Amino acid sequence: MAVEEVLSDLKKKIEEKLPRGTTISSVEFEGPQLVVYTEEPKKFADNGNIVRNLAKALRTRIVVRPDPKVLMPPEESINKIVQTVPDESGVSNYHFDPDVGEVIIEAEKPGLVIGKHGETLREITKKIGWTPKVVRTPPIKSRTVQNIREFMRTNHKERKDILKSVGRKIHRGCTSKDEWVRVTSLGGAKEVGRSCFIISTPESRIMIDCGVNVGSDDNMTPYLYVPEAYPINQIDAVVLTHAHLDHQGLVPLLYKYGFEGPIYCTPPTRDLMALLQLDYIDVAAKEGKRPPYSSADVREGLKHTIVLDYEEVTDIAPDIKLTFHNAGHILGSAVSHFHIGDGLHNVVVTGDFKYEKTRLFDAAVNRFPRVESVIMESTYGNSNATQPSLQEAEKNLQNIVNSTLKNDGIVLIPAFAVGRSQEVMIVLEDAIRKGIIPEVPVYLDGMIWEATAIHATYPEYLNNDLRKLIFQKGQNPFLSECFKPVDSNELRQKIIEEPEPCVILSTSGMMNAGPVIEYFKAFAENEKNTLVFVGYQADGTLGRRIQKGWKEIPLSTREGTQVIKMNMNVEVVDGFSGHSDRRQLMDYIKRMKPRPERVYTEHGDERSCIDLASSLHKKNRLETKALTNLETVRLV
Ligand SMILES: [Zn+2]
Ligand SMILES: [Zn+2]
Repeated sequence: MAVEEVLSDLKKKIEEKLPRGTTISSVEFEGPQLVVYTEEPKKFADNGNIVRNLAKALRTRIVVRPDPKVLMPPEESINKIVQTVPDESGVSNYHFDPDVGEVIIEAEKPGLVIGKHGETLREITKKIGWTPKVVRTPPIKSRTVQNIREFMRTNHKERKDILKSVGRKIHRGCTSKDEWVRVTSLGGAKEVGRSCFIISTPESRIMIDCGVNVGSDDNMTPYLYVPEAYPINQIDAVVLTHAHLDHQGLVPLLYKYGFEGPIYCTPPTRDLMALLQLDYIDVAAKEGKRPPYSSADVREGLKHTIVLDYEEVTDIAPDIKLTFHNAGHILGSAVSHFHIGDGLHNVVVTGDFKYEKTRLFDAAVNRFPRVESVIMESTYGNSNATQPSLQEAEKNLQNIVNSTLKNDGIVLIPAFAVGRSQEVMIVLEDAIRKGIIPEVPVYLDGMIWEATAIHATYPEYLNNDLRKLIFQKGQNPFLSECFKPVDSNELRQKIIEEPEPCVILSTSGMMNAGPVIEYFKAFAENEKNTLVFVGYQADGTLGRRIQKGWKEIPLSTREGTQVIKMNMNVEVVDGFSGHSDRRQLMDYIKRMKPRPERVYTEHGDERSCIDLASSLHKKNRLETKALTNLETVRLV
């Protein structure tokens, strides 16, 4: 059936199901959702069940939009909104988009604008005709969040066209009589870095992740030139599990090569993705390398990004539905569930995940309506890769900080901007608030503050305890006064030249670049100070050399090589990892409901992937296999 026919068919079906006297003017696909235009938005708003019932009956996501004829002028609308929402909601901004009949309301407390079961929103629609959408005013100003919201607004016309064409492709209808499902690994199998998979059926192809291996110049990119991926426009969509570069660093390259399809990810993943991609270009340029793409390609990717919250079942191809679930790894990280065909097969792609509740996130989800195949990460899949518990790690860190500060020393913690930094921040804030460690400034340098601002923008993606603290007690630990962003060279210089007991968290995590080097140079020679590693240090990095015990460290500077005498203490605190350790990987599958039929391992060195696959087989009597790059397995 042609799309026009599908649409007129849907319009008829909707009209039949509407209460008598309710009319619609047209229907149109917009990305994965069906948009219903009506001149009577009030009637739809009056009855919250209409849309819910329609979505259920048609098994698709539906939004109702007012026909442009019935929209109240913006100034009057603002007055009405102000009268309708409670004063405490802290509305800070309005943006009217006449093309889609939407008003975006920025509020400090979006829940109050939404109301119970969306009551207040419906009230607003009834009064002004516009469809209100609520976003949180970031409590810490994030340049990234601000720029992306602005960018989406200024490009809304182009974006609307993109969404329309994506929607029509998704609903093009199935044509093949054959039934099969295959998975091909293009990167990230028996290695960490450049994760990239393709799920293909006779109808569609979905790419999952498209990462870059930052540690390797030779094997940096996934095998994007093989027939499964090339030409690139045969891919229906790209699905991103999370924002780390080894999972999304090369997405802009797809657009440079002419890809026109959508990217699906969670809202925090979109924002962190843009931040990390732009930083990646920046770092490459500073190191004198030619970045594989430009910021224009990053923006092209953003235009094509469709965000989905956890637990939202969404059509992404004629025969594939996608649902994201919490993965517990970093902000917005998602275990991706693919429902293929009409109950034909279900694949879960874990991405990186943590199967334990942490300070920031709940444990990764392993309950699904159905699941037959699982593709899982194996970073700590080796049988001896057990990590200390989080409590041990926290105690350990607190003790190190305490003894250094008592000695009038400085604690320097190299950390990745996204993930571990925020975990360590929460631990330090908690310890300072409870008087376990003295009240000293905690300086945040590099991209850490910007990444934290993005965390603060999306508290609904944090765990229950944190959400309660933020929403019910009004205590946002990220806003604590102990945190001091280093936002100028002057401040950095002051910290270095007038050293006082403090904690410094700075990028980069493996000390191969970034402001952490400046601090290291300044503080390494004083034995009162301590350098604390909270993350993995790869071979070839400065961090690894220091861990190996080098006492004299050559650093290249503009003036030539400078040798740093290493006198400061070096401590390693394991256990802050965002990855499941070996036991958690095993438990994740053992306790998965329903029980899967087979498990494929990836994202780990060769031994870890093979070890985990064989142990899972022995313990659970499942079919298992460690995937190899360029290998295709048939699932159905
Ligand atoms: Zn990751
Ligand atoms: Zn990863």
